[in-house]
Amino acid sequence: MNPRRNNIRTLSLTELETFFHSIGAEKFRARQVYEWLWKKAARSFDQMTNISVETRAKLSESFTLDSITLNTTQKSEDGTIKMSFRLFDGHIIEGVLIPSGTRMTACISSQVGCNLACKFCATGMIRYIRNLNFDEIFDQVAIIAETARHEYNLPLSHIVYMGMGEPMLNYQNVLKSAERISAPDGLAMSPQRITVSTVGVAPMIRQLGNDKVKFHLALSLHSAINEKRNQIVPYNLRNSLGDLIEAVKYFHQQTRTRITLEYVMLKGFNDTMEDAKALAEFCKNFPVKINLIQYNPVENVPYEDSGLERTEAFKAFLEKKNLVVNIRRSRGKDIDAACGQLANKILKQNQENK
Ligand code: SAH
Repeated sequence: MNPRRNNIRTLSLTELETFFHSIGAEKFRARQVYEWLWKKAARSFDQMTNISVETRAKLSESFTLDSITLNTTQKSEDGTIKMSFRLFDGHIIEGVLIPSGTRMTACISSQVGCNLACKFCATGMIRYIRNLNFDEIFDQVAIIAETARHEYNLPLSHIVYMGMGEPMLNYQNVLKSAERISAPDGLAMSPQRITVSTVGVAPMIRQLGNDKVKFHLALSLHSAINEKRNQIVPYNLRNSLGDLIEAVKYFHQQTRTRITLEYVMLKGFNDTMEDAKALAEFCKNFPVKINLIQYNPVENVPYEDSGLERTEAFKAFLEKKNLVVNIRRSRGKDIDAACGQLANKILKQNQENK
């Protein structure tokens, strides 16, 4: 094996053409291979059936195709399907297909583990291992789309970067993956159907504005009171709510898109009328949509869900202030596929192996 083999998916079409020229093959073959890689999301050279066996052999001598492979699949009573994927270096990540009528949403990971350590989140408890490459993020979407077609006979309609990891701490790969997912010569999904969720990394939110991204941005707020947010989201110590407000204002000026605020309902912690008031104040800075998220319990974590009654009261208060509010019920709980539960099993396995 040639140790200097490159990942073929880092090559542009022009670079692929140069390679084909160098091996004396026709130029149009490069375009065919490029189509296999991005439009058809091939995950091995063997799938490229209109390319000769000899050329495929040359490709695999010269390049790697570091695709991810489906490791396990679990289906919830509510139709949610959780998948674990094995990366080329053996690490495991998770992604979820969430069906809702004809809406097929893929929830995907951006890092192996996470170093944010949000107090209520299971992923926060497994250590950060590495960033995902853009092609590994792309593969999750491709495999989940195949699953949607196979299981529900429907195309994928939405993508949320809300699995394991913090997308804004893996900025380049996240942007490149979104570009390949939405490119006409890639999976050709509308960027309007893509949402990237962040804990709130102020400089990177500004960068999204500079890059004039077309996808949606969601901010995991969970408290509009700075000191309170510090307690559950340690990253808030790096940039305060004041910094975040300025960054999101800038993002909005540049992109003119409305951001989504995610707010996990934690009983007795962030669900009082005082909290709702602070949230309504926060929302005066830019146009928003609020998602109140039912909390999924995580082992050894002291928080519990607010329950429907308190959540409805919280929602009613915000609606009186003319804010758009949705309550997000939990999905796939029975298989640990719900928000913040993805790492539960991996965490347990790690503990058992200690
Ligand atoms: N790091 C990014 C994306 C991953 S988290 C972010 O912070 O936005 C995706 C969403 O799931 C976040 O809003 C997070 O707060 C929420 N979440 C985490 N654990 C949860 C749990 N146990 N129950 C419900 N939502 C949870």
